[in-house]
Amino acid sequence: MQTLIAELQGRFPALRFKPGVSFAWSPETGQIIYKERAKSANSVWSLLHETGHALLKHQNYQADVELLRLEVAAWEQARLLASDLGIKIDEDHIESCLDTYRDWLYKRSICPNCSTKCLQQGDFVHYRCFNCHTTWRVTTNRFCRAYRSTKNVPQRV
Ligand SMILES: [Zn+2]
Ligand SMILES: [Zn+2]
Repeated sequence: MQTLIAELQGRFPALRFKPGVSFAWSPETGQIIYKERAKSANSVWSLLHETGHALLKHQNYQADVELLRLEVAAWEQARLLASDLGIKIDEDHIESCLDTYRDWLYKRSICPNCSTKCLQQGDFVHYRCFNCHTTWRVTTNRFCRAYRSTKNVPQRV
């Protein structure tokens, strides 16, 4: 992990890495958070993915549909980085991350009252049901929320 970070840091001196509890990109602080002792292939891919977000300067507070597009873009960037570094990212891993993410977004958009699939409101924190007119609040969008494990899909928020 440290070797890869040093390598990325050498190529992109502007990037800032910080150890933390899970892999994440923080647009607020401009930091890439990484798990210090992680050694698995998955964690290497995660680091490249978060670096992808950082290089593309992705911001929070996007509509849910937009967020999925940014996740895809971050993986594309991660693929480019990986091939530069001679690392191969498993395509199935990317697909399962995106699927988990899609599931999470889908669950947010289902009306808690009548189960109709709905569209997010313009403020990015509310959904409103066009069928029964229930309004519900969702937590602020974050990147990579659901992508640690497919077994660990968060409940509706
Ligand atoms: Zn409804
Ligand atoms: Zn992501």
